[in-house]
Amino acid sequence: MPSFFPDGADRRVEIIEVGTRDGLQIEHHIVPAVDKIALINRMIDAGIRHIEVTSFVSPKAVPQLADAEEVLAGIRKRPDTNLMALVPNVRAAERALKTPVDGGVLLCSASDTHNRKNLNRSIAASLEGMRDVADLLQGGGKEVHGAIATAFGCPFEGEVTADNVLRIAEAYMTLGAQHLTLGDTTGMATPRNIRDTVALLRREFPGVDLCLHLHNTRGVGLANVLAGLEMGVRRFDASVGGLGGCPFAAGATGNICTEDLVYLLDECGWESGVSLEGAMEVAHQMEALLGKPLPGQVMRAGRRLRLHAADDVVTASG
Ligand code: ZN
Repeated sequence: MPSFFPDGADRRVEIIEVGTRDGLQIEHHIVPAVDKIALINRMIDAGIRHIEVTSFVSPKAVPQLADAEEVLAGIRKRPDTNLMALVPNVRAAERALKTPVDGGVLLCSASDTHNRKNLNRSIAASLEGMRDVADLLQGGGKEVHGAIATAFGCPFEGEVTADNVLRIAEAYMTLGAQHLTLGDTTGMATPRNIRDTVALLRREFPGVDLCLHLHNTRGVGLANVLAGLEMGVRRFDASVGGLGGCPFAAGATGNICTEDLVYLLDECGWESGVSLEGAMEVAHQMEALLGKPLPGQVMRAGRRLRLHAADDVVTASG
């Protein structure tokens, strides 16, 4: 089979599982901590190394994530497991320090309106407050990751400005962030603006380790992954079963789906270290927990070479 890769090329791609944070946070049905823990432990068994487990938001704001400490304490970490959580403020950082979380994710929107709606403050105020949060995390031996929400468009403002994306990225670099995540919060990215925005960041911050957080809201999530891979991105957030949604597009699908992403990477010769069978099992387990079908596709169809007994299938023409 012809290979996409020259000899010796590094084929590793990291998948960051965000289902229990980004996926569950908009689910009304509260999943008990013990079930979240079982699910995350099975993800780790399936080969997932990076997990954005939860968010240290106020339990009043997001009751689904009120069990952040309990869930983190219950996870069976392996030596290469890296647990992350959103850390929106100083209070959250203080909570994070008392848990086994390895890194805190800081978040700011490239759209001022979205940032005010999501975090109740301006971009400038968000960036100003981050120094204390980062100092606390780093002082406690935790990594700092920076995420830019609505990096590819905002449902209130439309196109976001390159200036805003760059000024937030610069703030994260100054804070010593290990990774920079570009978030397509409401599924507005296309391969074209993935290429443009990644190129812009590479030009301004040549050494930056980029991650793409993509939603499949308009059906081009995996096409955006291919555009990212082509641009040298090797880290992607994904959610088991494609769990999640978009608060500004009723009925829209959620994050790109972990096992669909594993399937794509496997078939193209990339190495994620994640077992497709294992990821599909976790997706089915998540469906059972929520009592509703999830949008993942490979979990229904199975592997490409999953064969069916010809006698069992009624064929139709057309
Ligand atoms: Zn998201």
